[in-house]
Amino acid sequence: MTMDWKAEVTRLRASHGGLDGLALVRELLRDPALRGRTAVVSSFGAESAVLLDMVATVDPSTPVIFLDTGKVFAETLAYRDELTALLGLRDVRSVEPEATDMRQHDADGDLWRKSPDFCCHLRKTAPLHKALSGFSAWITGRKRFQGGLRTELAAIEAEPAHARLKFNPLATWSEADIEDYRRLRHLPAHPLVADGYLSIGCVPCTRPVQPGEDPRAGRWWGLDKTECGIHLAR
Ligand code: SF4
Repeated sequence: MTMDWKAEVTRLRASHGGLDGLALVRELLRDPALRGRTAVVSSFGAESAVLLDMVATVDPSTPVIFLDTGKVFAETLAYRDELTALLGLRDVRSVEPEATDMRQHDADGDLWRKSPDFCCHLRKTAPLHKALSGFSAWITGRKRFQGGLRTELAAIEAEPAHARLKFNPLATWSEADIEDYRRLRHLPAHPLVADGYLSIGCVPCTRPVQPGEDPRAGRWWGLDKTECGIHLAR
């Protein structure tokens, strides 16, 4: 079915523009035009439990896509399994890079050092777009307070290049909002948060942050790179 993306964004903003958090997740997952055609993408990182709890509350059978890049922390894999069981998520899909791509372009596993953008493309962007084929929309946990390109984030947006809608129900939430919700719902924290990892990606490209530092300052530190690329397509 071909969708008029501009019209869909206008319709959804008119219907749900005043909502956020659980209320928005509920409306989006139950939207008649999108039912069964919306996936969640989660890194099972520092703040992921909040969005996943909302999704599980509305519909635990919602597909959840996790990019297992082959470079993620062992603690993240354990946290994925812990949250999946705790929340009763029934369709968590761990997506890996193409083996042929890895053999051809990253046989030594150090592409991240030589060309991080290409590494992110092979290990994240390309597998994600393949995993999202067949879906009309995806939900992310991005927030404005994360800074950089995210400061102007809208809750409901479109990716015309990929013929998809994209939803960010936590766009306007603050760090305190996230933490309050996590505590209220007794959700476990990612084990690396206690060690200062406030934004958690791949092992070679993530370091802990110091008190007062931007939460994402530990991602690709020292490089002119703030996003892996999965959120850059429009
Ligand atoms: S975050 Fe680093 S290791 Fe992970 S895919 Fe990107 S460049 Fe590669």
